[in-house]
Amino acid sequence: MLDCAIIGGGPAGLTAGLYTTRGGLENVTMFEKGMPGGQIMNSSEIENYPGVTGEITGMDLMMPWPEQCQKFGLKHEMVNIVRVTKSNDIFTIHKEDGTTVQAHSVIIGTGSSPRRVGFSGEDEFFGKGVSTCATCDGFFYKGKEVAVIGGGDTALEEALYLAKICSKVYLVHRRDTFRAAPNTVARIKRTENIELVLNSSPDEVYGDAMGVTGLRVKNNDGETRDITVPGVFTFVGNDVNNQTLIQEDGSFLCDMNKAGEVIVDISMRTSVDGLFATGDMRIAAPKQVVSAAGDGAVAALQAISYVDEKLN
Ligand code: FAD
Ligand code: NAP
Repeated sequence: MLDCAIIGGGPAGLTAGLYTTRGGLENVTMFEKGMPGGQIMNSSEIENYPGVTGEITGMDLMMPWPEQCQKFGLKHEMVNIVRVTKSNDIFTIHKEDGTTVQAHSVIIGTGSSPRRVGFSGEDEFFGKGVSTCATCDGFFYKGKEVAVIGGGDTALEEALYLAKICSKVYLVHRRDTFRAAPNTVARIKRTENIELVLNSSPDEVYGDAMGVTGLRVKNNDGETRDITVPGVFTFVGNDVNNQTLIQEDGSFLCDMNKAGEVIVDISMRTSVDGLFATGDMRIAAPKQVVSAAGDGAVAALQAISYVDEKLN
C-alpha cells in the first residue's frame, strides 16, 4: 500500500514527488509512461524558468529533477496507467499490464496536449517556427511578424499578447465569425498591428534548415496567399490527458468542467478526498513549467496532511 501514488512525471508530478518524500511520506511511487520530464522535454529553448539563465533546452532543465527526487526516496515505475478508482477510502491504480497497486492518496499530473491543425509542414517545423505556446516562444519573434491560427478565446488572447511583442500579427481563421468572447473580438479589431485573414485555412508551412520562412493559406474560394513570417502559432484547442480518471461506466472519478479539465480548489484538492490534480490538466492552468511545479508542491503538502490525519 502506497502512502501516495503520483501519476505523470512532468514538472508537476516530479515536484510532487520531491515534496511528498522530503516532507516525510515513506512509500511514494511516481508512475510515468515515458521518460520523466514531461512535454517541456520537446522544447529547444526555455528562458522563463526563474533563476535559470543562459541557453538551455527543456531537456537540460528537466534532467536533474528525477535524480533529486530519488535522493529523498521517490520510486519511479515506467508504466502507462489506464485507470484510477476509489473504493472503501482506498485508491487502486490500474496499470496497462493488468496489475494494480493500492494507495491512500493520489496526485495526478498527466498534462494536456495541444491539438494539431493538420497542415503540411506542421510536424516538420514544430519547435522550429511552429509553436503552440506564445508565453514560451513569443519573445523569440520580438519586432518580427508572426501568424496565429484559430478563432477561439485562446487564439485571440494569444494574438493580443503577441501583438505587444511582434511588429505584426496575421490572425488566420477558417470562418468570418469568431468563437471567442465578443469583448475579445472587439479588442482584436481595434488593435492596429493585427491583420485578420478570414475564411482561410493554413495549407502549408515552409522553410529551410534555419526554420520557418512562410505560411501558405487557402481561402474558401480556393485562392492561395503566402504570408512571409518566421513564426506560426497554432491555437485550435487542447486535449486534456484525463483518460485515467474515466471509470468503467464512462463517468469521471471526480468533478470536471466541460473542457475535460479537473476542477480543483486553491490547494489542488479535487471533489474526491485524497485525490489532487496538478499542472496543465487542472482548471485555469497557466500551462507553464513554473506553475505546474508550484501545483505539485501545493498538492504534496496537502497529501502529507491527508495521509497523516488518515493514518494517525
Ligand atoms: P506534462 O509536462 O504534460 O507532463 C505530464 C506527464 O504525464 C508526461 O510526462 C506524460 O508522459 C505523463 N502521462 C500522461 N498520461 C499518463 C498515463 N496515463 N500514465 C503515465 N504517465 C502519463 N512552459 C514554460 O514555462 N516555458 C516554456 O518555454 C515552455 N515551452 C514549451 C514548449 C513546448 C514545445 C511545449 C509543448 C510546452 C512548453 N511549455 C513551456 C509548457 C510546459 O511544458 C507545460 O506547461 C508543463 O510541462 C506542464 O507540466 P505538467 O507536469 O502539468 O504536464
Ligand atoms: P476552442 O474554443 O475550441 O477554439 C478552437 C478554434 O480553433 C476555433 O475557432 C476553431 O474554428 C479553430 N479550429 C479547430 N480546428 C481547426 C482546424 N483543424 N483548422 C483551423 N481551425 C481550427 O479552443 P480554445 O480557444 O483553446 O478554448 C477552449 C475553451 O477554453 C473554450 O471554452 C474557451 O472559451 C475557453 N477559454 C476561455 C478563456 C477566457 O475565458 N478568457 C481563455 C481561453 C480559453 P471554428 O470556430 O471554425 O470551429
